[in-house]
Amino acid sequence: MVTDTAMRQNHDYSTRFAPSPTGLLHLGHAFSALSAYDAAMSAGGKFILRIEDTDLGRCRPEFTQAIFEDLAWLGIEWESPVRHQSEHFEEFAAALKKLRETGVLYRCFRTRKEMEDAALSAPHGFRDGIDGVFKPIHISPDEEAARIANGEAFAWRLSAARAADMLVGRNLEFEEIGIGVIKVDPFLNGDVILARKDNHASYHLCAVHDDALQNISHIIRGEDLKIATHIQVVLQALLGYRAPKYQHHQLILDENGKRFAKRDKAQTLRHLRENGVAPEQIRERLGLRN
Ligand code: GLU
Repeated sequence: MVTDTAMRQNHDYSTRFAPSPTGLLHLGHAFSALSAYDAAMSAGGKFILRIEDTDLGRCRPEFTQAIFEDLAWLGIEWESPVRHQSEHFEEFAAALKKLRETGVLYRCFRTRKEMEDAALSAPHGFRDGIDGVFKPIHISPDEEAARIANGEAFAWRLSAARAADMLVGRNLEFEEIGIGVIKVDPFLNGDVILARKDNHASYHLCAVHDDALQNISHIIRGEDLKIATHIQVVLQALLGYRAPKYQHHQLILDENGKRFAKRDKAQTLRHLRENGVAPEQIRERLGLRN
């Protein structure tokens, strides 16, 4: 006998909310999480919670705990077990190796300080992407060998130019739900970092790997990440992963028209909850149906 629940289940639909536990969740996160959750529920699909905690210096277990508490308080239920990216570095290393072997990555020896200085002196400044836009600085194979021998730290960057060459003839695009097909610009993010010494695998690589592994069909997230989608589709193509559909929602702004930041304590879900605000009021404030 097929039960009601089984009948309603749509195995082709899964969304995810993938926060990084570097602070308390605020109203902006609540909007992303609830939008993805509502979409999954109305499609009869799955809602997956993924903890993106690869930045070991900034992520804290107490914030992961707070994510669980805040989402449960909002009335969200997620699949178990929850994937914690920090437990899967070897998988990201394997994906990185696969990319390295294609020749699409290169070592970048510039320090953060040098990057910041370059950003300040760039004529148009750095674009507001996750890594900022980086243009490669080429060094000779001899200099590279010497720097490696010297034990100098480096990051692995994806060469946008090599990626574009390798993917010539491929239809690089993604479907933005409600808008249509968007052409991907492989150069939009510059040469992104995929791994560095103090952070074995970057957000883009881990997110793309896990979205594929977890069969995410629909990614619903803020429009600040729309730029990142361009490079993430490039990575999906290079790694042979299926491209999900995307929905980039408007950002929730505070009363001054500014984006919420993790430092705005008053707008954290924890603070609102402790001050007697009910989850229904959060939905109302965010313009979501109760
Ligand atoms: N960990 C990322 C963040 O918190 C996730 C972004 C995404 O949804 O892909 O911004």
